Amino acid sequence: MKVGFYTSKREYEEKQKEFDDAIHAALKDGISTLGAEVKALEKEIAEFTGAKHAIGVASGTDALVLTSDILGFKDGREVITSPFTFLASTSCIVRHGGKPVFVDIDPETFCIDTNQIEEKINKNTVGILPIHLFSQMADMDKIMDIATKHDLRVLEDAAEAFGMRWQGKGDSFKHSGTIGDFGVFSFFPTKTLGCYGDGGMIVTNNDRLAELARQFRVHGASKKYHYDHVGYNSRLDSIQAAILLVKMKYIKDAISKRAKIASIYEERLSNCEHIRFPKIKGNQSPVYYVFNILTDRRDELVEFLKKNEIGTSVYYPMPLHVQKCFEYLGYKEGDFPVAEKVSKEILALPIYPELTTDEAEFVCDKILEFFAK
Ligand SMILES: *Cc1c(COP(=O)(O)O)cnc(C)c1O
Repeated sequence: MKVGFYTSKREYEEKQKEFDDAIHAALKDGISTLGAEVKALEKEIAEFTGAKHAIGVASGTDALVLTSDILGFKDGREVITSPFTFLASTSCIVRHGGKPVFVDIDPETFCIDTNQIEEKINKNTVGILPIHLFSQMADMDKIMDIATKHDLRVLEDAAEAFGMRWQGKGDSFKHSGTIGDFGVFSFFPTKTLGCYGDGGMIVTNNDRLAELARQFRVHGASKKYHYDHVGYNSRLDSIQAAILLVKMKYIKDAISKRAKIASIYEERLSNCEHIRFPKIKGNQSPVYYVFNILTDRRDELVEFLKKNEIGTSVYYPMPLHVQKCFEYLGYKEGDFPVAEKVSKEILALPIYPELTTDEAEFVCDKILEFFAK
């Protein structure tokens, strides 16, 4: 049996008519930038997440760049974040001369270790940028407490966190991205809500910040050809929005299918002494965008699975503090031992809604076979 890490083909085959109809309807209506499909999607995302405002942009990366700019994560100001993430979580701070200040991750959740944040705060600190990684949100109670105490802005990188909700000590569940000043989602194809190209969304409950985000995505224009800021050209494409509107109809089902696959992996692999799992911490409802295991024989296992035609992925093989592009920040190997260790042991197994239970079982069979040798 061949088990690919991810494909969009099965989803397209299942819902071909709906996708084709949606795209053709958008074309027939006459494409306009930020047209009806984008507006409809923004409304749906706002309803689904409970955010007051949702603003479609060209990618998750752009969403981070625009919001960092608006929140003043620039000009030498410091933003506290974690080095165990995708480049875009940090490059958005650096883009306008802001200074990322890293703290290590929690060894069980891989999210920022909130116990280490406060010691990094000084008079230059303006914000915290937590990343909700793989399946769970960072401790938003702790982060918001610290931010309130020190008057810091919070930008939630929820690129991977569509559908995740945090209850914490509060009485109601809040969707990722809606707790800080801004939150961003990515619609990169593999993401829980992915399109067939690039796309992203900014959410906020703050009217003024929403207004600025709407201006910044169209060159900083407050009205046509009147520029209050030097902004960006970063609009969500209408055809991608049409595709995402179809996918929103099935999003709850897609999330529960991911959970089903995750529970197969957990059940079948939890007795294997060579494998460890991340732990979901805090009062929250996870979404399995990525399913990870940890093993100190990671690279051997990857090779074995590859020989057996099973696709895997490593998020992330090298933390950001040791990347060449951030050398100038002065960090070195050893500075964030947890992130460094996890990056050598972590392995993502195939998980997407159309993956069959037989395929997940087969992946488990092969992993157990490897460790039995
Ligand atoms: C995917 C991702 C991004 C970037 O999103 P794009 O839409 O690919 O630009 C940012 N941060 C994290 C944590 C991501 O996983």
